[in-house]
Amino acid sequence: MEINLIRYDFALGRKKPENIVNSENSCPFCDADNLTNIVDREGEFILLRNKYNVIKGSDMFVLIEASRCGIDMPDYTREHMRGLMRFAVRHWARLESEGKYSAVILYKNHGHLSGGTMRHPHMQIVGLRDVDPSLMTERGSFDGITVAEKDGVTLNAATRPRMGFGEFNIIGNKEHLDTMSDYLQKVVAFLVSRFKKSEDSYNIFFYHLDDKIAIKAMPRMVTSPLLIGYGIRLLPETLEKVVKEMRETL
Ligand SMILES: [Zn+2]
Repeated sequence: MEINLIRYDFALGRKKPENIVNSENSCPFCDADNLTNIVDREGEFILLRNKYNVIKGSDMFVLIEASRCGIDMPDYTREHMRGLMRFAVRHWARLESEGKYSAVILYKNHGHLSGGTMRHPHMQIVGLRDVDPSLMTERGSFDGITVAEKDGVTLNAATRPRMGFGEFNIIGNKEHLDTMSDYLQKVVAFLVSRFKKSEDSYNIFFYHLDDKIAIKAMPRMVTSPLLIGYGIRLLPETLEKVVKEMRETL
C-alpha cells in the first residue's frame, strides 16, 4: 500500500503551549499586538507562521478566526463566518499557486480530542513539499445521504466515511462559498450539540474535488480500534435518524 509518510519533530512538539486541558494557561492569540511573522491581516482575521513547525518539509500557518477566546464558529455572525471562509480559501489558493508545494492543506482542529492544543478559535494551512496528493483524498468518502441542497451546494451525511460517526460533507463551487459557509456553520453547531462524547471536539478538512471545493466536518471521539487495527469503518445504525435531526435543525 502506498502511503504518505512525514517526519514529525517531537522535540519541538513538546514545547507547544496547551490551554484546552490546562485552561489556566494564557493565550498568545488573544495578545495580537505581540504576534510575530504575520502574513496577512483582515479585520479580526490574522494569518501568521506557526511558531512550532513540527511537520518536516512543510510551511505551517495559523489562521486566527476571531480576536478573543471562548467563542467559536456557531457564535459568529453569518457575515463573520462568510468573511472567514473567503479569507481562508483565498490564502489556501495563494499558497497552492506559489508552486512550492506538492499539496497545501486547510483544516481545523477544535477541542482536546481533535488534536488541538489551543482553545482560541483558529484554523491551519500547511504547505507540504513531499507528499503524494492522490493519496490524500478518498472520493467515495464524499458519497452520502443528501441533507440539504442550495445554489448547487450539497450537504450530505457520509455513507462511506473516512472515519465514522457524524461525518458530514459540503460540496460546491467556490462561487457559492457563502452558501457553503452557512452550511458549515450549522453543521459545526449540530456536531458540538449532538455528539456529547466528543466533548466539543471536531475537525474540518478542505479538499479539491474536480473543480469543486469539498469540506468534511466530523466530531472527534476516541478512535475505534477496528479502524486503527483493521481499517473497518463503523457507520452508526442511527445514521438516518441523525440525518433527520440535521434536516430539522436546518
Ligand atoms: Zn485567546
